[in-house]
Amino acid sequence: MSETTTGEGGIRLHTAVLAIGGNLGDRLANLQSAVDSLADTPSMTVDWLSPVYETAPLLAEGAEPQDDYLNAVLGVTSALPPDMLLMRTQAIEEALGRTREVHWGARTIDIDIVQFDELVQDDPELTLPHPRAAQRAFVLAPWHDARPEDVLIGAGPVAQLLAALGGAAAQGAARRDDLELMQP
Ligand code: ADP
Ligand code: MG
Repeated sequence: MSETTTGEGGIRLHTAVLAIGGNLGDRLANLQSAVDSLADTPSMTVDWLSPVYETAPLLAEGAEPQDDYLNAVLGVTSALPPDMLLMRTQAIEEALGRTREVHWGARTIDIDIVQFDELVQDDPELTLPHPRAAQRAFVLAPWHDARPEDVLIGAGPVAQLLAALGGAAAQGAARRDDLELMQP
């Protein structure tokens, strides 16, 4: 997957894997709105969409309790360079009512860029691949369901990383087969 392709007119297209999640409001509707907004982005297509997982929140020591998250992973192709893709995902987060008062706090929607082509960079504004993806069952499990052969750049096959965590259930992540996101 993550190769750079050339679209019509010689424009460079990039593929990215995005992780979306949220635990406030109508969680499924918020995930769907994020997917729809991504698909509405000029030059962007949503290539694949994972099943939906429900996950108990990762709480920092002494943190307020939070509701469970719904999470999903999707693949996109677009002409946007990495910084423009981040600007777009942050604009979608804001449009869907996300506030940033508490780091790792409850949120309507979080959109993380898991990887972008084969790019490796450790800019704190945009670290690629996402530094915590390899440890997060709520990223690896849905990703693996949708794309069993994919590889997390610099870390290894998604299947192997997920097995190393002991599977989705070991981190309290469960697939919700009664919930489904629609490919726009
Ligand atoms: P988190 O996703 O860790 O809960 P936020 O969504 O509030 O936290 O993101 C905090 C910052 O992380 C953002 O301002 C963004 O610049 C930065 N960031 C670094 N790498 C990435 C990435 N791969 N995807 C999304 N945001 C990233
Ligand atoms: Mg984020």
